[in-house]
Amino acid sequence: MVSRNILVINCGSSSLKFALVNPEQSQFAISGLAECLNTPQAVVSWKIGEDKNTLSIPSGDHKDALSKIMPLVQEICHGKLDGIGHRVVHGGHIFTAPTKITPQVLSEIERISPLAPLHNPAALQGMRAALDVYPDLLQVAIFDTAFHQTMPEQAFRYCIPEDYYSKHNIRRYGFHGTSHRYVSHQTAEFCNLPVDNSHWLTAHLGNGSSTCAVSNGKSVDTSMGLTPQEGVCMGTRSGDVDPGLFGHLSRVLGMSINEIENLLTKQSGLLGLSGLSNDMRTLEQSREEGHKGATLAIEVFCYRLAKSLASMACALPRLDGLIFTGGIGENSSLIRELTVSWLKLLGLEIDTQANTKLARGTAGLINKPNTPRIVVMPTNEERQIALDTLLFVK
Ligand code: ADP
Repeated sequence: MVSRNILVINCGSSSLKFALVNPEQSQFAISGLAECLNTPQAVVSWKIGEDKNTLSIPSGDHKDALSKIMPLVQEICHGKLDGIGHRVVHGGHIFTAPTKITPQVLSEIERISPLAPLHNPAALQGMRAALDVYPDLLQVAIFDTAFHQTMPEQAFRYCIPEDYYSKHNIRRYGFHGTSHRYVSHQTAEFCNLPVDNSHWLTAHLGNGSSTCAVSNGKSVDTSMGLTPQEGVCMGTRSGDVDPGLFGHLSRVLGMSINEIENLLTKQSGLLGLSGLSNDMRTLEQSREEGHKGATLAIEVFCYRLAKSLASMACALPRLDGLIFTGGIGENSSLIRELTVSWLKLLGLEIDTQANTKLARGTAGLINKPNTPRIVVMPTNEERQIALDTLLFVK
């Protein structure tokens, strides 16, 4: 089999993350981050093996960053780059699968940008910059929402009048699809079950978090909705609140839409509850030291997560296992234990020793014998994006 190299790019409004993926190798040959783009502090940093480097590119934009990154990438893969895979947050109802980037596709992504005003314009900048630097190279867009396009209507519709859906595309879309798909498929393989005859609950727990019900390899429900704001408690996002909160905050506290959105996306979640931090490591340590806010934040996080998982279970005909992934899901035995403690009705029981002893970054089973599987499965969105991009390589 020919060895393949795919560059995976993930753009934020002022950042560009990249990794060179060879699907036959577990480590990325080069990976890095350009940040503070369009500011005097703009900088590219990268890692090749254990070797770390940085390069200042004052006021550089996405294209300037790529112009620095691409020669490094080409050198490492001896000029044999097979394609670029771009992570795009929102594909609306239009993009249900990875899609080869053409001018037409870029216009379509632009057209649905109001659905993800913070994310899609950044991805477009990255895609345009990459097309400018390498116009002849295969480039593929991989959408966070695409995996969830298999959700049935009862799962994706809001209980609001039909027109808002049919005329304005207001519905639940879901996010983190690349991760939910990757870990559910990997877990089926890990447990020797056929992907197309297995049923999983997945919990992707990072700075943003979401749950998903995956049935026969397909998403049948997920906790995020029109935006990545719906669902469980996250680092700085509130997750579900009473929709009446918006009117209340506006009428009673005189807050504007921008102020309310800022409150619910940047100052809430673990950060808002703890009054301390959005970082789970900090919260776990402070909880050990008796910090009340940290203790409460962790308790709310786990309880709400368990409630979300229990509700996702409605979408499955049987449960083959619960999967934890993402920075918190893969590393925090405490969060796994507290969450599962609320799920006794699903028959889930954690093996405390297996849970605490599982080595970081490894896949493993942490349930008690004769109870449904509980699996820790490291996610690898870059690898999934590379595999999806490879499908287009002739
Ligand atoms: P992102 O959504 O930005 O990709 P990650 O998946 O990297 O985020 O997850 C970040 C979260 O994982 C942070 O809250 C961080 O504290 C948490 N985390 C990472 N390592 C640990 C650990 N050993 N114990 C508890 N939480 C951890």
